[in-house]
Amino acid sequence: MAAPLQPAGGHAEPTVSFACSCATNAPLTHLFLCQHCIKLRCARCVSHEIESYYCPYCLETMSSAEAKVKKNRCGNCCDCPCCGHTLSVMTSSQQQADADASASSATSTGTSPGQGKKVYYLRCSVCRWSSRDIDCADKDSAGGGYPIEESPAADSVKKLIDVYLRIANTEKAERDQKTASRRRSLMTYTASLDQRLMAMRTSTPQSRLSVLPSVDSGVAAPVGSTDTVREELAKVASVATSDIEPLPQSYYNDPLRLDTVATLEQRLSDTSFQSPCASVRTAELEGTCMAGQRRLVPQHKFLCTRRLQRCKQCEHILNKPDNNPSSIKTRLQLIALHYMPNFRIAVLPEFKCQQWSKAVLTIVNPLNDNVAFTLSNLPEADASEEPSITADIELPTSQLTVLARDDTSEYDDTDAEQFQDDASVVHRRKANRLSFYVKIRPMKAVGPVQVSFLLCFKYTSAVQKGSQPVHLRQRVNLDLGKMKELHTVTKSS
Ligand SMILES: [Zn+2]
Ligand SMILES: [Zn+2]
Ligand SMILES: [Zn+2]
Ligand SMILES: [Zn+2]
Repeated sequence: MAAPLQPAGGHAEPTVSFACSCATNAPLTHLFLCQHCIKLRCARCVSHEIESYYCPYCLETMSSAEAKVKKNRCGNCCDCPCCGHTLSVMTSSQQQADADASASSATSTGTSPGQGKKVYYLRCSVCRWSSRDIDCADKDSAGGGYPIEESPAADSVKKLIDVYLRIANTEKAERDQKTASRRRSLMTYTASLDQRLMAMRTSTPQSRLSVLPSVDSGVAAPVGSTDTVREELAKVASVATSDIEPLPQSYYNDPLRLDTVATLEQRLSDTSFQSPCASVRTAELEGTCMAGQRRLVPQHKFLCTRRLQRCKQCEHILNKPDNNPSSIKTRLQLIALHYMPNFRIAVLPEFKCQQWSKAVLTIVNPLNDNVAFTLSNLPEADASEEPSITADIELPTSQLTVLARDDTSEYDDTDAEQFQDDASVVHRRKANRLSFYVKIRPMKAVGPVQVSFLLCFKYTSAVQKGSQPVHLRQRVNLDLGKMKELHTVTKSS
């Protein structure tokens, strides 16, 4: 359903775009049509609100408060620390695990009664990483219970955030105080000016200067509270030091094994710990991983969000997704493609500079009513100010009608007989599609061929019952490829 359609001529990617109310050009698939303002709205003209959080793997939904507590991570699902793929929960029996110390190959999907207690562990089906590789104890429940680990720097980060919040609050209070005192001083200045002017009329010229008040005299000096908070910040802030422990001799003497060192990507996926040891089997790690060094651990999966879009002007909802994260349906969707007639470039001629060529455009009506539309050129002032317009266009002067969308009409050819179309204007008519001729004259010998025109038709709001039709004037832009490329294609073919 993409707006740009490649014509049979093989020209370089002609596209059709519509001008949003903020003058941004975008295809109809990227725009909303607000049914209250009756205006196109692009992604910048709508406010995006998070409606719900959900895990993309187990599809569990949660409120924003719960998501905040869980640090935007799912409590059940984990990502592989090596490759990032979602880890699967594997089942094993306690007896089997005890019998086989290496245990990684002993993965059964279930145990019969009498074989022992069922235990669960995590395993990556892509890179075969297992939670047993890092000596992580097997769990009794499939739900996991893998805790979201607190960063060792969590306390100091919390203290820093508290201090910075207090600095922000103090600075805001000071700003407010300054603004209030300046306002007060200006009011005092205006009130006292009359009295002083009266005094000036009766005083000598030398004494007049001393009579005038200073504007800054009423501004209160800033209180020293910011400095106090900054002193507190200095206490909790980290201090750089050159006193660090030397690296152990093994770093210099032992040969480097890249398979035991975590990559930059793996370390950055766990920013709290940034473990330097990669995940390899415990036996292999002996001698290569320093005592006390932490190995890569599973990362709890980040949550995704479902967002609704709202018109910034009238605050009505333009797009509202279904609450169920497994559903792709929407409760309300005012995407412009469903409400605004769209254009397609059917036939493109071989353009020649300063010469008129005939092209065929198709208009598609997605509405349930017939649309009578007229096309007109942009006003002279607008066209001359627009550097992107590099060609002239000659449009049909008469009003054209395109039929309503009707899925059953695909199977009969009776529509063409309803209209006495002028063959010099209308190329073809089929169901809710109408093809018509336009003439295009590129003004430059090289570069893109771009034209703009206005589509005018009467539109009735689809959601407001009994509303009057509105005369809608919508700017349409056609990018018809590049002149240079067009010549190249012609010569090679
Ligand atoms: Zn916009
Ligand atoms: Zn999950
Ligand atoms: Zn993996
Ligand atoms: Zn609106």
